[in-house]
Amino acid sequence: MSIIEITGVKKHFTKEVCALKHVDLSIKQGEMVALIGPSGSGKSTLMRHISGLTLADKHSDSCIKVLGNTIQQRGKLDKHVRTSRSQIGNVFQQFNLVSRLSVLTNVMIGGLSRIPTYRSLLGWFTAEEKHMALEALERVGLKNVALKRASELSGGQQQRVAIARALMQKAKVILADEPIASLDPESSRLIMQTLKDINEKDGITVVVTLHQVDYAQKYCERAVALQDGEVFFDNLIHHLNEENLASLYGSQPEELS
Ligand code: ADP
Ligand code: MG
Repeated sequence: MSIIEITGVKKHFTKEVCALKHVDLSIKQGEMVALIGPSGSGKSTLMRHISGLTLADKHSDSCIKVLGNTIQQRGKLDKHVRTSRSQIGNVFQQFNLVSRLSVLTNVMIGGLSRIPTYRSLLGWFTAEEKHMALEALERVGLKNVALKRASELSGGQQQRVAIARALMQKAKVILADEPIASLDPESSRLIMQTLKDINEKDGITVVVTLHQVDYAQKYCERAVALQDGEVFFDNLIHHLNEENLASLYGSQPEELS
């Protein structure tokens, strides 16, 4: 079953800047897909479309469906976008944690709604919610820092808290935009392994944008490469060859040097 279905997505930011020229993409339930491509190729823009945070061009013949629900069509949000937002866990480059709250509270908030409620900000949670949050933190290896302030954690740990939030939210899909950019190799491996683990054990579909092709090759089966706002490659990642990489990143790809 297709969990994400994108057809004819076109996106201009201005008359001159066209971030997505025409994108068709179908992602099946349970896949772990690497979205790769050079800087500026449209990866983040595509992720934001799937989250319902960016609208495609009006009058284009675009359509985005998540779990069978149309969330936007011809540049207009559909009412199903609320349902879909609750099914998608976002792990973005800029960590979306409330820095002065505890790690545990941040995870518990993830289970409620996208906007912290009065109840959650006062720290009123049920024993069941606390139990679930601690379980989610255990899955990402951070149970021992549950009571620390989010701001005390390292960048890599904060990314893992964002993954725990998605687990708390019972997300069906995790969209991770450059989750390992600017992290050291050890933290990068931990994040990628955590994503792979929840993909395999919980059956959560994962779409992850990566700068580093070698991480994509190690952890993902399928790669979708964007180039100038178009799908340049979409296949099992082991079919990605030197020639593909050279035309994507230039003859001396920094990721491989
Ligand atoms: P990537 O994530 O692959 O680096 P982006 O999706 O961020 O690429 O950007 C694709 C193109 O769209 C780039 O040319 C970028 O400058 C442009 N772009 C992205 N966001 C905006 C925006 N909010 N306003 C104007 N241009 C944007
Ligand atoms: Mg980006």
